[in-house]
Amino acid sequence: MAETKVESLIIVGSGPAGLTAALYSARARMNPLMIEGEEAGGQLMITSDVENYPGFEHGVTGPDLIATMRKQAERFGTRFITRNVTKVELQSRPFKVYVGQQMYEAQTIIVSTGASAKWIGLPSEKQYMNRGVSACATCDGAFFKDVEVGVVGGGDTAMEEANFLTRYASKVFIIHRSKSFKASKIMLERSQKNPKIEFIMNTVVEEIMGDGKSMNALKLKNTNSGEVIEKKLGGLFVAIGHQPNTKIFNGVLDMNEAGYLKTKPGTTITNIPGVFAAGDVQDPYYRQAITAAGSGCMASLDAERWLEAQEQHG
Ligand code: NDP
Repeated sequence: MAETKVESLIIVGSGPAGLTAALYSARARMNPLMIEGEEAGGQLMITSDVENYPGFEHGVTGPDLIATMRKQAERFGTRFITRNVTKVELQSRPFKVYVGQQMYEAQTIIVSTGASAKWIGLPSEKQYMNRGVSACATCDGAFFKDVEVGVVGGGDTAMEEANFLTRYASKVFIIHRSKSFKASKIMLERSQKNPKIEFIMNTVVEEIMGDGKSMNALKLKNTNSGEVIEKKLGGLFVAIGHQPNTKIFNGVLDMNEAGYLKTKPGTTITNIPGVFAAGDVQDPYYRQAITAAGSGCMASLDAERWLEAQEQHG
């Protein structure tokens, strides 16, 4: 029977956390194998301008930043598999990672599967997905030239999406369920100063309406007065936060109630020795590209030290 090669390290997920872990591990001669996923690169792939990643004085686009990180990791020997992990077995070592029928074995694993956009959860939202409803202004904004659109949410993502959309849309309405914002001051002010942006506060989207082919209006409810109005809009961008991608680790790795992986404070160590977690998948607080990259570096160092200790103690 052909023996499966046991890798030193498999990295699952290819955002800034995974790619930084790959870069460090490759330079440390750990010969990492990255299973990058079919939608490789993570959330930065749908981020327009990154102005706060140190080292890029004039900013950089998310896809460019990821492409550069990937090349840098590859330069030192990282190998990539552009498929999704479908199953893991972490109860005993070597750990097993499955991509469909294909099984890979590894002594250590770094989980950096990130988080994905959340949806409101209305049936009509599903019905009109990609028919007016989107969670990515960078991807779909250009389809809304001279159209009035809505953005749901009150955080930085909503502000960023709204500002970006003003490049195309004739008007952007930020629809926010609360009376205060989670968004940072600078991002909020930018939206408030933008003449193409208007705010609709204390309001939730009750239904997305359309002709079956594409959406054309929203049913909006004011949470103070209970009043329901219909607003004609050609598009809706949902920007209400994120959900960690941890389904395949359910019941195996410790998580909090929102599904974020738990790590030992100040480290990337999970409840399973030899398995480490980095980036947004374990971070409900900071969720920045730079913090993800930083924790990817930590995970690589944690994995390297753990492997060394295993070798020393047999
Ligand atoms: P946040 O959690 O910060 O904000 C989510 C917003 O969506 C809140 O205003 C929340 O309302 C609202 N919301 C949540 N669920 C629903 C729902 N079911 N229906 C209606 N509204 C809802 O998420 P973000 O994605 O905006 O930001 C996440 C992190 O990423 C933050 O740390 C942010 O700073 C960062 N970020 C930074 C950027 C940058 O610097 N360039 C760009 C984008 C994000 P409520 O306030 O009522 O809870």
